[in-house]
Amino acid sequence: VSTWSSVPQGPPDAILGVTEAFKRDADPKKMNLGVGAYRDDNGKPYVLEAVKKAEAILLEQNLDKEYAGITGVPDFTKAAAKLAYGDESPVLSNLAITQSISGTGALNIGANFFSTFYPHAKNIYVPNPTWGNHNAIFSRAGLKVEKYGYFDKSTNGLNINAMLEDIKNAPKNSIVLLHACAHNPTGVDPTQEQWNEIAQVVKDQGHFPFFDMAYQGFASGDCTKDAYALRKFVADGHQVVLSQSFAKNMGLYGERAGSFSIVCADADEKSRVESQLKILIRPMYSNPPIHGARLVNTVLNTPELKQLWLDEVKTMAERIISMRTKLRNHLEADFGSKKNWEHVTNQIGMFCYSGMTPEQVDKIKDDWHVYLTRDGRISMAGVSSGNVKYLAEAIHNVTK
Ligand code: PMP
Repeated sequence: VSTWSSVPQGPPDAILGVTEAFKRDADPKKMNLGVGAYRDDNGKPYVLEAVKKAEAILLEQNLDKEYAGITGVPDFTKAAAKLAYGDESPVLSNLAITQSISGTGALNIGANFFSTFYPHAKNIYVPNPTWGNHNAIFSRAGLKVEKYGYFDKSTNGLNINAMLEDIKNAPKNSIVLLHACAHNPTGVDPTQEQWNEIAQVVKDQGHFPFFDMAYQGFASGDCTKDAYALRKFVADGHQVVLSQSFAKNMGLYGERAGSFSIVCADADEKSRVESQLKILIRPMYSNPPIHGARLVNTVLNTPELKQLWLDEVKTMAERIISMRTKLRNHLEADFGSKKNWEHVTNQIGMFCYSGMTPEQVDKIKDDWHVYLTRDGRISMAGVSSGNVKYLAEAIHNVTK
C-alpha cells in the first residue's frame, strides 16, 4: 500500500478552480471573469510596452545570472519603496525592506515576522470579505484571523460605520490589515476622508496597520492617488508595514516581483529588523528571482520608461472603467433591468462585486458560459467591447 494512500482529496482553489472549469467549456461565447489578470480589448494578455523596452535594455546589458542577496536586487527595492511611500518620504532612510515572491510572498514574510516578533497578542483583523488567501496565509503563520465589517450588501458599497466600530472594539494593539487601494474582492475603497477617520481610530486603539498594496495605479489610474491611504498613515506617524506587488500594475504576474517593508524608528532598528528578515527568508527560498526585479528597476529608473509605464497603467485602469460604464448602460438601457446597478460604476479597480447570489453564479455558468467566483465577483479585466453586451444580457437574465 502506498505511503500516501490516506491523503484526502482537497477542494479546488476558489479562484483558480474557475479557470479550470472555463477551460473545459467548449462554447465559443464563454467568458472567464474569475482570475484577476488584465486583458486588452481583444481579451488577450497584455505585456506592457514599458516592460518590453526594459527587457530589450536588459538583453543589451548582457547581465549574468548570479544569485541576488537574500533581500533581492537593492536598486529594485529602493525604487519600489519610493513608488509606494513617495520619492521624498522621510521614512525611506529607516525602512527595512526586502524583495519578495510577489505580493503573496510579501504577505508570508510579513505574517511570519509578526508571528515571531510582534510583542502583543497576535490577532490580525481583515476586512469582511477579503482576498481568500489572506486567511490562509495569516493562519498558517500562527496569527489569529478576525474580521472587521467592510461591505454593505444593501448598498453594494462600504459600511464605514461597521468598519470603524469593529476596529474600535478590537483589543488594543491588534494588527489591522488594510487593502491600500482597489479592494479585492469588492472593488469598494474608503474615500480620503474615510481613510483619515480610519487612521485616527487605528491610532487611538494602538493598533498596527499592515498594508497590502497589490493594485497601485489600478484603482484610479494614478499611482500617487492610489498611495493616499499608505502615505496618510505614515504622515500621521503610524509605523506601518507594507506588502507590495508588481503583478498587476506592471503586468508581471508570473515574474513574481514584490517587496515587503517595515518602517523602523532609526538606523539601528532597521539593521536589526533586516537581519531577522534575512534569517526568516534564507530557509524558505534563499533569495528571490532576479528577472522581474530587474525589469521593474529598469522601468522605474529610466525616466522615459517610467513615464510610458505611468501612461500604460492609466490606460489599463481607464479601459476597465469604460467597461463598467458600458456594462451598466447595457443592463439599464438595452435590457431594461430594473435592478440598481450604480455599484458597477461606483466600484473601482479590477473587480466588480456584482451582488449576484451563488445560485445566479451557477446559472450564468450553466446557461451563458460565463465563469466567475461564487461570491459574485466579476473580474472586469476580462470584459471587452466585444463581449460586454453579451455579459449584460446574461446578468440581466439570471438576476431578473
Ligand atoms: N493581495 C491582494 C489583495 C491580491 O488581490 C493579490 C493578487 N490577487 C495579491 C495580494 C498578491 O498577488 P501576487 O502574489 O500575484 O503579487
